[in-house]
Amino acid sequence: MKAISVLGSTGSIGTQTLAIVEEFPERFRVVALTAGRNLDLLIDQIRRHAPEVVALADAEDVPELRRRLEALDPSQRPLRQPELLGGGEGLCAAAAWCSAELVVTGIVGCAGLLPTLAAIRAGKDLALANKETLIAAGPVVLPALQASGSRLLPADSEHSALFQCLQGTPWADTARLSTGVPTPGLRRIQLTASGGAFRDWPAADLAKATVADATSHPNWSMGRKITVDSATLMNKGLEVIEAHYLFGLDYDHIEIVIHPQSIIHSMVELADSSVLAQLGWPDMRLPLLYCLSWPERLETPWRRLDLTEVGQLTFRAPDQAKYPCMGLAYAAGRAGGTMPAVLNAANEQAVALFLEERITFLDIPRLIEAVCERHGPDLQQNPSLDDVLAIDAWARRATSELAATPSPTLLTA
Ligand code: NAD
Ligand code: MG
Repeated sequence: MKAISVLGSTGSIGTQTLAIVEEFPERFRVVALTAGRNLDLLIDQIRRHAPEVVALADAEDVPELRRRLEALDPSQRPLRQPELLGGGEGLCAAAAWCSAELVVTGIVGCAGLLPTLAAIRAGKDLALANKETLIAAGPVVLPALQASGSRLLPADSEHSALFQCLQGTPWADTARLSTGVPTPGLRRIQLTASGGAFRDWPAADLAKATVADATSHPNWSMGRKITVDSATLMNKGLEVIEAHYLFGLDYDHIEIVIHPQSIIHSMVELADSSVLAQLGWPDMRLPLLYCLSWPERLETPWRRLDLTEVGQLTFRAPDQAKYPCMGLAYAAGRAGGTMPAVLNAANEQAVALFLEERITFLDIPRLIEAVCERHGPDLQQNPSLDDVLAIDAWARRATSELAATPSPTLLTA
């Protein structure tokens, strides 16, 4: 029985992970849960999984959770009362919880950074969904992995596909994941992208894209932030940087291809020109299950892929002019050091402002570009954790300040 912790248990990744645990009760058990504000769902999860520890993002919510757990009818109570923790320290303590073997990182955004580092420092293996952590703090996370021996198993569907394709190649030694050393025999990565909510919109219409438009994804059901990232294609840009850190390839050898059916989840090209792809329905349970079961494959009753039902698999090059976020991500990745942290923080802040309807959809890339430009002269190639945290906070402030300053290039609604 593998002992699992789920960070961000009430989100899209968290709930799907817990559904897998419930499907394989003889293989996995939950020892730690962390969540933000959704106490109703969290209490239900505590009752079903009886974790040893539960941490809430805000320490002030802990008494309310305790009160509600104690008030449960005896027939509804979990098998054990979990230890309850709160705040940043509580999240980190839950992430490093001693009995856990694998930590699923389903917190959204850079808020996942400190808990993820706590799990790494405690020597836990990670199922990495929270890509923002690696993007913001690659120069800190990679050496921490080396020092602790933790393994970073990719839960993002594209990186799971790459990881799966690389099993059985000379690369298969997973200790190579996230060493920053180029993968032997791996020549090129092709990340597939559905194209997001505006795939079939003319570029000229993007100026009037609403929050409702941007939060409806054609193929995947995910949290709001990543759904907007998919609409701007920043998600794919972030995944390019994620692939760079995971597989050690330089940016000239990581490409994006639009594949509207989301059946091929990504491809690797090997030194002898062979291309390997991983296929499946767009369903996050598979990459999550593979993180949990790796290196084994578990039997599932899930709907099997039928290519005759799919009919056609099509591909096209991404439109760089329509989606400037991709170019911004490549530029930040190539600049390296603290620049991806600035890109990520500016994006998180801009997406939050967009979701609050304080800026337009097209302001998102404009703000990110302006904040990255401002950071240029201050870029640090080998930042410490404190440097990353300070730069993340600066970039969020700078984004909000710029958004509040009307200029000819901003706020064009
Ligand atoms: P979500 O919004 O559905 O869930 C986020 C979870 O994090 C919730 O449990 C929430 O309570 C918690 N949380 C939010 N803010 C927090 C904070 N400040 N401190 C602590 N906890 C906090 O998000 P999601 O779609 O599940 O995405 C989670 C991560 O996984 C993101 O990094 C995303 O990029 C990545 N990811 C998601 C998918 C997907 O299918 N949803 C696919 C690939 C990668
Ligand atoms: Mg993905």
